[in-house]
Amino acid sequence: MSRFRFVLARIADIAGVAPNRDEARPPLASDELEERVQTRTAELIAANQALEAQIAARVQVEYALRDSEERFRQLAEHIREVFWVYGVAEERLLYVSPTYEEIWGHPVQSLLDRSLEWMEAVHPDDRPRVRAAHFEKLESGAFDQEYRIIRPDGAVRWIWDRGFPIRDLSGHVYRIAGLAEDITARKLAEDQLRRQQVELAKTSRLSLAVEMASTLAHEINQPLAAIVAYAQACLGLLHKDQIDPRALTGALEEIVNQGLRAGGIIRHLRDLVRRHPAVQTAISLNALIHAVIHYMQLELRQAGVALRLELADPLPMVLADDIQVQLVVLYLVRNAIEAMSETDEEPRELTLRTTVDGSSTVLTTVRDTGRGLGEEATVRLFQPFFTTKPDGMGMSLSVSRSIIESQGGRLWATANPDRGLSFHFTLPIHSVQGASFAP
Ligand code: ADP
Repeated sequence: MSRFRFVLARIADIAGVAPNRDEARPPLASDELEERVQTRTAELIAANQALEAQIAARVQVEYALRDSEERFRQLAEHIREVFWVYGVAEERLLYVSPTYEEIWGHPVQSLLDRSLEWMEAVHPDDRPRVRAAHFEKLESGAFDQEYRIIRPDGAVRWIWDRGFPIRDLSGHVYRIAGLAEDITARKLAEDQLRRQQVELAKTSRLSLAVEMASTLAHEINQPLAAIVAYAQACLGLLHKDQIDPRALTGALEEIVNQGLRAGGIIRHLRDLVRRHPAVQTAISLNALIHAVIHYMQLELRQAGVALRLELADPLPMVLADDIQVQLVVLYLVRNAIEAMSETDEEPRELTLRTTVDGSSTVLTTVRDTGRGLGEEATVRLFQPFFTTKPDGMGMSLSVSRSIIESQGGRLWATANPDRGLSFHFTLPIHSVQGASFAP
């Protein structure tokens, strides 16, 4: 056998294409054999390359996995929330990010090795609620609770803790991943806001009573004067010799009526001053505007102001604190009267308008034909202590804005195209779907 044929036969052997020597077949022609060897070699090379590609892909996946693990670690360890993972089958926390130590003041390890049960740090008052939510969580995988914890140094912190289920292919929850955030600052701010609102409610009541005092005094004077007049008439009749007591009945009844009327006014004043927390109820803005106007009639008349009411009817009820909104309307009307008194221009016209604004708010506008305000001053209008009046305080507009915003609305001003200013405020409709209309 020539050397070439020998080599070919070896290759054919290795490549598994060598003829079976036991079979009595005619030997393959060398060209054909060579071709088969080449095909097989090409196949082997291709298989080898595929294998290499697979290995490279696996290495890539491993790198990617390590990268993503590293990214996850970086993320979990640098966010301000505590990231945790709970193993449902293991019945314990599997991972807790290091921020836990900062917020809770306990080492992470104590949670993982269960030398500390996480519930132990929860404030005793919140424990029953949090425990119940925890057991619900084990079923649904969902958890969303705000609770207080007590740190080892005795400090109390507020935590917002929420968990999300991780399911396997059959939909079974096998892990719960969660984020716990320190919301103490937000809670303190909310508390402060609530306290301020209570203060604002108290002050508003007092302010409204003070603002209305002159009108109320004037109102009380009327029944008192009537009582005096009727009583004098009765005395006059009694001084006559022959008096039929029935002649006194009408006058005495009037005395009773006027006494009751005076009592009603005093009761209203007492209600105003009495300390109530701010209460948001369904109120009719149209009725509220009528009530304020009633108390301001005297001022309007003295300033020679004509009143135009453009009140939408029917108008949905709004959700607000009645006393506080009365105070806002009173401030806006008084400012309008003052702005119109500061100019000789006629007519002096005050328009009060209510309209439904979109689907969820009612818009109230107080429009005057007063002296208006320059562009620069209009920007500063709502700043505390901004005033252009010699005896002004510059507080009523900023207080009004706080009141309206605390009720979920907005208050702003626009210059009228001709003269004067318009103040607008919105308040949320009491019930968007329900037919809650003012009577
Ligand atoms: P005060 O009335 O004590 O000055 P406000 O906060 O009610 O405080 O008003 C601040 C300033 O805004 C007023 O001094 C006045 O210059 C301006 N202003 C308020 N309402 C009107 C108005 N309707 N027209 C023109 N200017 C107004």
